[in-house]
Amino acid sequence: MTTLAPRVQPIFDEVLRRNAGEPEFHQAAREVFESLGRVIARHPQYTQGSVLERICEPERQIIFRVPWTDDAGRVQINRGFRVEFNSALGPYKGGLRFHPTVTLGTVKFLGFEQIFKNALTGMPIGGGKGGSDFDPKGRSDAEIMRFCQSFMTELYRHIGEHTDVPAGDIGVGGREIGYLFGQYKRITNRYESGVLTGKGIGWGGSLVRTEAAGYGTVFFAEQMLATRGSGFDGARVLVSGSGNVALNAIEKARQLGGVVFACSDSSGVVYDRNGLDLDVLREVKETRRGRLADYAMLRGAASEYRAGGNIWSIAAETRIDVALPCATQNELDGDDAALLIENGVSAVAEGANMPSTPDAVRAFAETTVLFAPGKAANAGGVATSALEMQQNASRDSWSFEHTEDRLSDIMRGIHERCAETADEYGEPGNYVLGANIAGFSRVADAMLALGVI
Ligand code: GLU
Repeated sequence: MTTLAPRVQPIFDEVLRRNAGEPEFHQAAREVFESLGRVIARHPQYTQGSVLERICEPERQIIFRVPWTDDAGRVQINRGFRVEFNSALGPYKGGLRFHPTVTLGTVKFLGFEQIFKNALTGMPIGGGKGGSDFDPKGRSDAEIMRFCQSFMTELYRHIGEHTDVPAGDIGVGGREIGYLFGQYKRITNRYESGVLTGKGIGWGGSLVRTEAAGYGTVFFAEQMLATRGSGFDGARVLVSGSGNVALNAIEKARQLGGVVFACSDSSGVVYDRNGLDLDVLREVKETRRGRLADYAMLRGAASEYRAGGNIWSIAAETRIDVALPCATQNELDGDDAALLIENGVSAVAEGANMPSTPDAVRAFAETTVLFAPGKAANAGGVATSALEMQQNASRDSWSFEHTEDRLSDIMRGIHERCAETADEYGEPGNYVLGANIAGFSRVADAMLALGVI
């Protein structure tokens, strides 16, 4: 483990003490703190007004009961969360995650990452996150609707277009945003489009929002590869996950000339020697809401489903140039990183939030592998949410081409900001350092300007 600078160690110790039993939050905070010693040495103003201590403490944390009735008529109870972490740059902004493993600690780690990610986009959005330990798997449409309505019946009083603007994340897509928005509209009697993002195109949503996190991750990887004179054309790619981020990363990688050989879900891996067929994948995952195992059945001989398999080990079987972890936190560990490095992977860009363990991040940092942390690489999702808010505020809707151009410019801007900051601190190509310092500086400058609040 890297030691922290003496000025930041006591502040980090206090984070550990105050947030006991929240290992993912500690991990996310530690990773940012490892970069901060340098910035404080150069800019002592950041030790004023306890900016660092304040940035680690959410402005507000809401925990609530979510009762709902299942199809059998039984009352079920889940726990809902919204952590409003930092609003120095704009209304709290960040998704809602519905997954049985969600705890307050999960939401805090995601909210903390979101502060810096949102700052990196250069847009006027603060950081927040929410969710529930509700498990949508196997639930009927009517159950999902009743859960979303109950969740919003508490959440509505805490959010608003100028206060806090939730969106989707794992387990929350267009269908859930629809039910949540419907209930918000009914309770408040306001058609307040800007209160949620990820809405449907017919009722205030933005084109490209669905594709944005996946496309953006590929755009960021493309920028990194360009610094070495290469690109996606002919690149051999692995994309973990098979949710919204993964499917759209696969789509963009293919559009740019790459071949994606495998993707995964929580039960296994699908490996297709001819390259994944995206139409079949979308049919299985989106139309049928089925399991990945069905893909191999539909595709036949060249493809294979490996129950319980590890996607990264495919790099030992066939040459892979680019790895895009797009599933969930801590899905790629030190051994996986070593295997990717040994087998010649040249770039890794995180489409998920914190998918690489600290050991993996360290392993990449010791080599020439280009590594993009999620807070930079997957910022296209939230950036396009901010574009959706802009369209809602002006009662306008933009074309796909225009919105995709904006997304591509934003990702180029984030890449430039990270790369320039890394250069400035004498570590060219260190995107982790660049993202942490560039994100932190923007938030800290605003916090200093706004006084002790
Ligand atoms: N859940 C996404 C993220 O992790 C998007 C959040 C948003 O659009 O507000 O950044």
